Amino acid sequence: MYDRSVTTPLGVDRYRHVVVLTGAGVSRASGLPTYRGEGGLWTQGDTVRNSDGATMAADPEAVLRFFLPWRRQIQAVAPNPAHTALAAAEARRGPGTSFTVITQNIDRLHQRAGNQDVIEIHGSLFRSRCTACDLPAFDDDRADVELLPRCERCQALLRPDVTLFGEMPPARADHDAKRALRTCDLFVAIGTSGLVWPAAGFVRGAAYAGARCVYVNLDPLDDATDFRESFLGKAEELVPALFG
Ligand SMILES: [Zn+2]
Repeated sequence: MYDRSVTTPLGVDRYRHVVVLTGAGVSRASGLPTYRGEGGLWTQGDTVRNSDGATMAADPEAVLRFFLPWRRQIQAVAPNPAHTALAAAEARRGPGTSFTVITQNIDRLHQRAGNQDVIEIHGSLFRSRCTACDLPAFDDDRADVELLPRCERCQALLRPDVTLFGEMPPARADHDAKRALRTCDLFVAIGTSGLVWPAAGFVRGAAYAGARCVYVNLDPLDDATDFRESFLGKAEELVPALFG
């Protein structure tokens, strides 16, 4: 892989179909915790247990009491320069082009920054669905852990529409992501190791479509990879430079 030490713009506007994959590193500068790395959520026992689909099945109230307060915490922070640079890049697209953000984040910060074409492959913390019936998922920002919200149809507990560990990602999002990748000519992964499925397969799909594949993250990749270029550093610094 070719490690770029000098940050030169990617020339995003020259590409017809741009796909950006984002992970927790994009939200870090907004003050949200990341999952991996030192101090990351995955190093804290409660997070591991409460982010597991098996815990949701066995003790849904514990999972809800863990997740619902996040809604308040996330609403209290703002999109950072990485988010706003991606929104600006989408806003200046011309006819016949596309700019799709596929995000592993459940925080809705891309949409709050202004991105329109966002695929949430791990769902959204700001939608709820029923733990029992097939009530369609709906927007929900309630965060009261004393009065856990219940399904209006069957009275079972509602849960955030997010993909927990061991659960399948939403089929529609996975389908939309793969469709975007089939035609993309520039693929940029930002703030994610890309090692978690289904994201791990996305760079393969983009490379197969013939896209330029660029990796932007704090940590270098250590595996053989379909990325051909990498920029190492903070998303909130690199993204405005690369997408400007
Ligand atoms: Zn229900």
